[in-house]
Amino acid sequence: MRTPEPVLWLYFFYYFYLMQIAENIRQLKQSIPPNVRIVAVSKTVPESSIMEAYHIGHRLFGENRVQDLIKKQANLPADIEWHMIGHLQSNKVKYLAPFISLIHSVDNADLLSVINREAMKSKRIIPCLLELRIAKEATKYGLTLQNATEILSSPEFRLMENVRITGLMGMATFTDDTAVVRSEFHYLATCFKQIKADFFGNDPSFCELSMGMSGDFRTALEEGATLLRIGTLIFGSRT
Ligand SMILES: *Cc1c(COP(=O)(O)O)cnc(C)c1O
Repeated sequence: MRTPEPVLWLYFFYYFYLMQIAENIRQLKQSIPPNVRIVAVSKTVPESSIMEAYHIGHRLFGENRVQDLIKKQANLPADIEWHMIGHLQSNKVKYLAPFISLIHSVDNADLLSVINREAMKSKRIIPCLLELRIAKEATKYGLTLQNATEILSSPEFRLMENVRITGLMGMATFTDDTAVVRSEFHYLATCFKQIKADFFGNDPSFCELSMGMSGDFRTALEEGATLLRIGTLIFGSRT
């Protein structure tokens, strides 16, 4: 009997890899409460892998680079809900405005006013999260609670009719120390409650707490996350 060509083995491995993506999503969904949504973080992941998640019914994907996001959005099915999760430069907002479902990473007032302007041009209201800096690490983007409060109480913000702030986002310190991660997520949840009470009263649209990634999503769930941003646990390691 002839041994299969090496390229055939490659196909086998690729096939099992694709099946694994679907299985990973199924298992994740079984282990979280029904009101929590998973943003499948597909940065650096090929479109074929995204489609594997799509075929079992997953529709929510997150990217952190505008260039990749617009390319994938153009090539893949129109009913995919795309979230921008990475740092966003004002000059690139115009590429996302026509279709983006949620921007997780609003970290300054100028960015928010550009999003409002571009949303107006696209005749849309774009849902946004304010990104708070909760990690001790100095390198992360994000607002302080006071910055966020200033934005929400500013007269400029009151005039913005094409953005809707639907919650907060934060990234915990990259560490195995669960106590540190928990205290950072807990702080974000506290900020959420305070901002809701101060600015949104009974407005049900302020409802999202985007926190938790592959390594810390269980802790995030316990602290009240409604959106988990998960890449590695679904698509495998990116290295
Ligand atoms: C990459 C990324 C994630 C997902 O990270 P994993 O550890 O692979 O789950 C979540 N949020 C942001 C902002 C990211 O850039």
